[in-house]
Amino acid sequence: MSLLEVQSRIADSCKKAGRKPGEVMLVAVTKSQPTEKIIAFLEQGHRIFGENRVQEATEKFMALREKYPDIELHFIGRLQTNKAKDAVRIFDVIETVDGVKLAEELAHEMQRQKRNLPCFIQVNTGDEKQKGGVSPAELEGLFLFCTKQVRLPVEGLMCIPPAHEIPDLHFALLRNLAQSLGLKKMSMGMSADFDSAIRYGATHVRIGTALFDIT
Ligand SMILES: *Cc1c(COP(=O)(O)O)cnc(C)c1O
Repeated sequence: MSLLEVQSRIADSCKKAGRKPGEVMLVAVTKSQPTEKIIAFLEQGHRIFGENRVQEATEKFMALREKYPDIELHFIGRLQTNKAKDAVRIFDVIETVDGVKLAEELAHEMQRQKRNLPCFIQVNTGDEKQKGGVSPAELEGLFLFCTKQVRLPVEGLMCIPPAHEIPDLHFALLRNLAQSLGLKKMSMGMSADFDSAIRYGATHVRIGTALFDIT
């Protein structure tokens, strides 16, 4: 699908859900996509992108930022504590805070670099062993640590539902958790399930395949 088509699908989903299209941000996930494709999106006016590797994002986006300073780059992958410094340098939003060590290091780097990046806590809504994110049971503790102890600017929650489950229950759970913590932003929904995510209140949908697969 073209960027325009995806945007119009998002607008349709919003309409069906009784929401305004402006309430949902499209994060174009460009992991493993070449720079030319990103430039094509930039030329169409798109500015919000998602990458899941610090190194790859640095290689692709450092140069692009000079020409397009208003890019908003979201980190959506697993972040190792020792990469926090580089992540704070290149990204604008960190969507995958999932532990106290990482939160502490991110807060420290933000202070050092004087860059205050909005953060999301990733919640492992399916309690999957191999997946990043904090378990729902430990979310409140981590949230309080982030906001009270290290003053990390946590603005929302993010989740990636288990691959072979109907995502709706996970979206509903994330919404309830966000509400209980007074958080307004929710990053949920990908190519296959953004319509449902928008129904449950997503403010950010992260879409890769639908934008880049021309089949
Ligand atoms: C790759 C990725 C996406 C995009 O998924 P698609 O199904 O290709 O739209 C979204 N979120 C995360 C965390 C990803 O790694």
